[in-house]
Amino acid sequence: MSPEKDAELCKKYPKIFRDRHESMQNTLMCWGFECADGWFDLIDTLCSDIQNHVDWAIKLQRSALDRGEIKEEDLISEEDMQVVAAQVKEKYGGLRFYVNGADDTVSGMITMAESMSYRLCEECGKPGRPNNDGWVRTQCEDCRSTFDQRRTETWKKEEK
Ligand SMILES: [Zn+2]
Repeated sequence: MSPEKDAELCKKYPKIFRDRHESMQNTLMCWGFECADGWFDLIDTLCSDIQNHVDWAIKLQRSALDRGEIKEEDLISEEDMQVVAAQVKEKYGGLRFYVNGADDTVSGMITMAESMSYRLCEECGKPGRPNNDGWVRTQCEDCRSTFDQRRTETWKKEEK
């Protein structure tokens, strides 16, 4: 992903991407978003829904405490309730979004986004589909022909 888009996601979702610049001993997020810009909106929407869900769950817990429905010692710390990205990448033509701290709802959101990625061009975000030969990429027809052309040119150069 381009550095601008990478920075934009980290700025919008600092809690989800809090490990973005941690060392590689601690997280694979140190490599950034290992996919192209076409999936930016998909990741942006996913993160927005995840953060809303986490914020809502935290609020719910606070009001349950206020009403005396749960005890102080049964509280889950708000840091533990936060979903944190561990790795974001493309693999076999699809988005892989690995996190820590996901409940069933968040896991469902991630499954949905990963499935949707097979229908969106990884380069430009237009409707696309995976190719079924060789190196699998999900792309639209335009990006695929540009991509194949560039790859052939690189190979030709390497042969010389
Ligand atoms: Zn495209």
